[in-house]
Amino acid sequence: MGSVEGRAVLAAGDMVYDVGEASGGGVPAEPVEAIGHHLALHELTARLGADGSLAARGLEPLGRCVDVVLGPPVPWPRQVFGVGLNYRTHAEETGMGIPDAPLVFTKFPGCLSGPTADIELASTTTDYEAELVVVIGACVKDVPVADAWGVVAGLTVGQDISDRALQNAGARPQFSLGKSHDGYGPTGPFVVSPDLVADRDDLAVRGAVNGDVRQSDTTANLIFGVAELVSYLSSILTLYPGDLIFTGTPSGVGMATGDFLRPGDAVTTTIEGIGTLTNRCV
Ligand code: ZN
Repeated sequence: MGSVEGRAVLAAGDMVYDVGEASGGGVPAEPVEAIGHHLALHELTARLGADGSLAARGLEPLGRCVDVVLGPPVPWPRQVFGVGLNYRTHAEETGMGIPDAPLVFTKFPGCLSGPTADIELASTTTDYEAELVVVIGACVKDVPVADAWGVVAGLTVGQDISDRALQNAGARPQFSLGKSHDGYGPTGPFVVSPDLVADRDDLAVRGAVNGDVRQSDTTANLIFGVAELVSYLSSILTLYPGDLIFTGTPSGVGMATGDFLRPGDAVTTTIEGIGTLTNRCV
């Protein structure tokens, strides 16, 4: 599932369909509400993909994927969590040590943008972080690790764009504002159901700037994996449909070398089996 002009859409082949229309009104058009119906979305996707049954009903696609402007797949989640230092190699490059519990901050939801949105650089210390993003599909509290994948509606690609000077300012740095400038949360292009990827716990993550691959790892190397993160967060507070968890970034960020983003840079972020973001810095 993705979004176009604030409405939930589904991709079938290279075409995009409006969820509200394709479901005959059975699934809400508003993306956060639609995510709460992720099992129905799943069925709808299967029907869209399988044959021309929807076309036979006279359903017109909104257009081709490449022609529509996709917004963030979940434009206004209630909660957006980020996880710091969640790959060993990245924790080591920052010199901050390996955490013994998930290091959680928030990206305020207003920072979210779409898969092709420009990144308006707010500082000269703005950095990229390629990440797998988890989308919660139910209203849940105290989920055991063994059941945690069952409350995940899907996975998407995220860039946890970070203003390092602001993130690390002060004697007791609070990451959240440094992660939350407008447009510092590109996500998308679509939320993909976990059963549609080969191995949901082993997905290649790649981040490139101007085609130069800076980050390359796999989610198998997450210190706290998806199920552990969902279980841990839900032990503290209720999670809601559409909530996002940015699961952390591998090594290779600009902070390690002082090579930050500049106007004109193209940031490309790929998760195997999920999709690619392409965002230009301005
Ligand atoms: Zn991050």
